[in-house]
Amino acid sequence: MSTTPTAPAMISAKAVNKHFGDLHVLKDITIEVPKGQVVVVLGPSGSGKSTLCRAINRLEPIDSGEIAIDGKPLPEEGKALAALRADVGMVFQQFNLFAHKTILENVTLGPTKVRKVSSAQARETAMELLDRVGIANQAQKYPAQLSGGQQQRAAIARALAMRPKVMLFDEPTSALDPEMVQEVLDTMTALADEGMTMLVVTHEMGFARRAAHRVLFMSDGEIVEDSTPEEFFSDPKSERAKDFLGKIL
Ligand code: ADP
Ligand code: MG
Repeated sequence: MSTTPTAPAMISAKAVNKHFGDLHVLKDITIEVPKGQVVVVLGPSGSGKSTLCRAINRLEPIDSGEIAIDGKPLPEEGKALAALRADVGMVFQQFNLFAHKTILENVTLGPTKVRKVSSAQARETAMELLDRVGIANQAQKYPAQLSGGQQQRAAIARALAMRPKVMLFDEPTSALDPEMVQEVLDTMTALADEGMTMLVVTHEMGFARRAAHRVLFMSDGEIVEDSTPEEFFSDPKSERAKDFLGKIL
């Protein structure tokens, strides 16, 4: 994947450090993700993957370093942060849908409140997105009436409704029953094929092999490997990655 040297990376993190008390959870993390690239982040539990996602979205303050989205540094707070955060869609392990709102309302809420889109326009876009993720017929239902896989697809539609430039996924299929994993991965693969810039924390190696342009392997707060899926799975360089792959494959 090539970009012109002057094109700013869609996601850029430079020398990012983060501590929780004595625990150095992000150690000098530097990554650049060009527009349209799909990056899968792998690594053992506790290695800092979720913290990295949250830092990129400024849900978690960092101690030092710089994070920019589409060339714009993330401001610390206020309106500018709300606007930039809207450029970054995030999907979590737990679907985090509003339980007392319908699926359609869940998807229209952000655009009408944050993006100031008219309700009619927001509804039209929401229905298109729900159709794209295959659950248009569930629009009037409440989250609890949907399967886990459908709820997660609704969460993806909700994130997309904000017209994000970047999508972050933090173990989006880990809470799902096994038979529902594929439908969510298929939705993510379609999004990747459409050229969305994505950072995906997942243990789904099939997805990593198929959809990722690049694999980052994290361990103890560091990015230990940064390679193509082919390289990573066939020829991991570090002992830590070999050990990790030995346990999961
Ligand atoms: P991963 O997503 O790779 O499993 P996390 O980013 O969730 O890892 O966590 C990295 C480390 O930071 C872990 O040791 C975890 O216990 C710790 N941690 C995460 N969030 C907090 C927090 N809010 N307060 C204190 N420690 C935390
Ligand atoms: Mg995590």
